[in-house]
Amino acid sequence: MNYTNSLEFAQKMDQEDPLKSFREKFYFPTFTKKPVVYFTGNSLGLQPKSVKDYINVELEDWSKWGVEGHFYANNPWKDYHEILTDKVAKIVGALPKEIAVTHSLTTNLHLLMASFYQPNKERYKIICEAKAFPSDQYALESQAKLHGLNPDDAIIEIAAREGEHTIRLEDVLDIIEENKENLALIMIGGVNYYTGQVFDMKTITEAGHKVGAIVGWDLAHAAGNLQMELHDWDVDFATWCSYKYLNSSPGGVSGLFVNERHVENTELIRLAGWWGHDKEKRFLMEKGFRPMKTAESWQLSNAPILGMAAHSASLDLFDEIGMTALCEKRDKLTGFLEYVIDEISNTNENVSFEIITPRDKSKRGAQLSILAHGQGKSLFDKLSEEGIVADWREPNVIRIAPAPMYNNFEDVFRFGEILKAAIQ
Ligand SMILES: *Cc1c(COP(=O)(O)O)cnc(C)c1O
Repeated sequence: MNYTNSLEFAQKMDQEDPLKSFREKFYFPTFTKKPVVYFTGNSLGLQPKSVKDYINVELEDWSKWGVEGHFYANNPWKDYHEILTDKVAKIVGALPKEIAVTHSLTTNLHLLMASFYQPNKERYKIICEAKAFPSDQYALESQAKLHGLNPDDAIIEIAAREGEHTIRLEDVLDIIEENKENLALIMIGGVNYYTGQVFDMKTITEAGHKVGAIVGWDLAHAAGNLQMELHDWDVDFATWCSYKYLNSSPGGVSGLFVNERHVENTELIRLAGWWGHDKEKRFLMEKGFRPMKTAESWQLSNAPILGMAAHSASLDLFDEIGMTALCEKRDKLTGFLEYVIDEISNTNENVSFEIITPRDKSKRGAQLSILAHGQGKSLFDKLSEEGIVADWREPNVIRIAPAPMYNNFEDVFRFGEILKAAIQ
């Protein structure tokens, strides 16, 4: 792709963009003094304008039906999550029976580890990435403690090499091999939240299985951002939130994936609740948990319908576009952002921007993480004053993520102009 850092080029790209009409389907924040450039779809995706209608259907049914809405609402609430399953399965590359939309992300991480982290004397180690998202670190640490283990002994963190920012695949594979006798679980973020690095999920999953470990992925920054094939890659389990790239409301409902192989294993321990019980027998209220033969058997509770309605609105947009077209635009848009940042960095002596996200398109999604040498938080504050909504992560990184569903090339151009002015 040949880029030019000009308004004409950006506008031409926008005109030719097959997804251009989707921008109008979202609300852009209005709190900034200057026109907004929203680049934080990796933290909270924007609100689709259709969400209100989807939620209103449920509010109307609630007022009309009361409890009977579980059976007689337009979308009967007792089965509401089923409306979402096929669409979510397409986004992450799964069979519908491998998907459940339920709870929140960290909760699901614990529920899945309750089933898939069953340490014994020989096999008890967990491999994760160093500087994982804090919630994941706490979850792993507490899981180790729950089993009476010392987290410092049980958890192996894979770090980037001295002087490097991202983790090498060969280092991951070496550490798996070194720990092959003791390894119980590999649990890594599919996309690292800080650097934006995408891990080779297929290869790592395969390597984990070869030494007899279970392999799970936290896909918070991957769902709706990457094209994935969780089923074909033979991943054991995964979970993600829906409020980042999936635009499905703050704290919105999470998704989980459990491989078909495990779904059908009724012996596998699940922390159980009534919504995971055999659907046909659920309302008989009988003793004795009989798990559904789908990932729904990890569901504990009846579903939060309003949050799911927001999710449903957004999933319909994803379904219309498909991940292939979305990822095509993502690569062009993020590539343009990379080009603009490099150009500014190369033509200004008083600043140097280091993009720590991989340059290789196959190793990143929408996000670029930038170290601003010699600048930092003060630069970030200047950008914010000019209407850029990006995010600052301690100790020294600005994360920007143009979301291909609603951001456009002109956003990237405007970002570049504001960045140029800010470093003068
Ligand atoms: C966003 C994010 C979370 C947040 O967890 P919640 O349970 O949804 O609050 C956890 N892990 C990762 C990797 C994340 O990116």
